[in-house]
Amino acid sequence: MATGYQGYRAWLERLGRCEAAGGRLVCLGESVRGQPLFGVSLGEPSAPRSSLVMAGLHPMEWIGIETSFALLERLLEADGPPDRQLWFVPLANPDGVRRVEANLRRGRRRMVRHNARGVDLNRNFPRYWDRFSLAKLLLGPVFAGGAAPGSEPEVRALAEHFSQAACTQRGVRLDRTLSLHSFGGVVLHPYGAFWRRTAHYDEHLMAAREVADRIGAETGASAYRVLQSARWVPGFTAPGMELDWFYAEHSALSLLVECSRGNQSWRAPGAWLEPFRWFNPSDPQRLAGQLARALEPFVRGTP
Ligand SMILES: [Zn+2]
Repeated sequence: MATGYQGYRAWLERLGRCEAAGGRLVCLGESVRGQPLFGVSLGEPSAPRSSLVMAGLHPMEWIGIETSFALLERLLEADGPPDRQLWFVPLANPDGVRRVEANLRRGRRRMVRHNARGVDLNRNFPRYWDRFSLAKLLLGPVFAGGAAPGSEPEVRALAEHFSQAACTQRGVRLDRTLSLHSFGGVVLHPYGAFWRRTAHYDEHLMAAREVADRIGAETGASAYRVLQSARWVPGFTAPGMELDWFYAEHSALSLLVECSRGNQSWRAPGAWLEPFRWFNPSDPQRLAGQLARALEPFVRGTP
């Protein structure tokens, strides 16, 4: 597996040219700077149910992108579930990823969270977008939600392709979604925008715990923590998240995994100066492989 934006893109384009590989490549839209937003679907196109894995809304959280590719590779090699389509959007913020890479090449220690227009794509999804948020009030530019709900082309492309109406037209029910971020070693479930619980709280809790326990078992460490997103940092609700949008739109089991526990060490103070290292583990390939194994049952719809 190639890493880095050009490598990922070449890998996806090769997949698109090779029908025998079993994956279908679709261009869902374009980023602000005109980069393609690729979707890959695996499995039986007429299957009635569907799972979606997306990664890289926050481009520095690169371990999430690596994990989505590791998972995609695993699923390409195995027989898929007969009753389920598996969708991947592994590079949800291509302009951001390119900017992170340019900064790393030039040795610039910059935090990159946004798309090319300075919008946090994970605050731009068109549900609960204008809810009050203390985090936004205090740290407005960090959590900038954009000019309007779904104003950003990256979010619009996702929200159009995976809307209730589009899924119904394709004859499929999207009932599991997984968004990969980093860091914190946490499995989050909705709501992010509200302190209150969803009507499917117990189902989410059970699914999140299952995923968190599997990650613990695969990594040989303690399970990841499970939290309702809005309760991670009390008072810091997050309107306009993908987590809430997929739940509100489809009543899907919607999870967000903060893939890495982080890479800070008091013995390596240099790591504190390089934001990229906050979000990513020192051995990303190993962790991506472990996480891919841990996440596969959820994506395949089992149990
Ligand atoms: Zn994130």
